[in-house]
Amino acid sequence: MISENLHRLKNRIGKQCAASKRNTDDIKLIAVSKHFGINEIKEANKLGVYDFGENKAQELRDKYQLLADKVTWHFIGTLQRNKVKYVVKAASLIHSVDSISLTDEINNKAARLDKVQKILLEIKTSSEETKAGIEQYEQILFLADHCKYLDNIRLIGLMTMAPFTDNELLIRKSFSELRKLKDKLNKQGFNLSELSMGMTVDFEIAIDEGATMLRIGSAIFGQRDYSKDWRIV
Ligand SMILES: *Cc1c(COP(=O)(O)O)cnc(C)c1O
Repeated sequence: MISENLHRLKNRIGKQCAASKRNTDDIKLIAVSKHFGINEIKEANKLGVYDFGENKAQELRDKYQLLADKVTWHFIGTLQRNKVKYVVKAASLIHSVDSISLTDEINNKAARLDKVQKILLEIKTSSEETKAGIEQYEQILFLADHCKYLDNIRLIGLMTMAPFTDNELLIRKSFSELRKLKDKLNKQGFNLSELSMGMTVDFEIAIDEGATMLRIGSAIFGQRDYSKDWRIV
């Protein structure tokens, strides 16, 4: 099933890239494996997927213990300071940084591992209360600027989640806002290259608006069963 799903997904990504005049090589597919087991990750990996996304610190820690650096790990979920240590150890990129205290803790833990941790700032581009991320431009600028002074952190881009809606215009607005924000920050002297946006339901719009990283789960692995523990297959 994963094989067919991937095939279908890559076709859709290819078609959208052609329509949006984007190069598929400029877009990284991150398979969001949260809640799925090691065997599913291995299967996707055999089919040529190298990047995997997790949204829980302990789940990432445990999967990292089993697979280590055989694949590239991304952390995409809400991160608490006391769990930063697990994430810094495993993740190549942390997509969901949204506070000074978090950047400082990531910097500390990365320094201990003699690592430069790549991060993205999570931006709230919709009015949905449940969505995480920073919203105000002054705050975003302040946090981006703060990262310059942290030797063990490298800020390489921005991440967002579009609102959960059928209204394509609202989704598009969310993604285009992120792209404009990146351009605005780069005019201020930053050097941001990555836009992490687009999931199973909205990745085509994200490609059209300039995404460089897609975070896609269910289109690859199928429906998630939240009542099941990922360790039990
Ligand atoms: C779960 C998740 C995704 C992937 O969602 P799908 O609908 O399975 O594609 C993307 N981004 C974040 C932050 C997630 O938590």
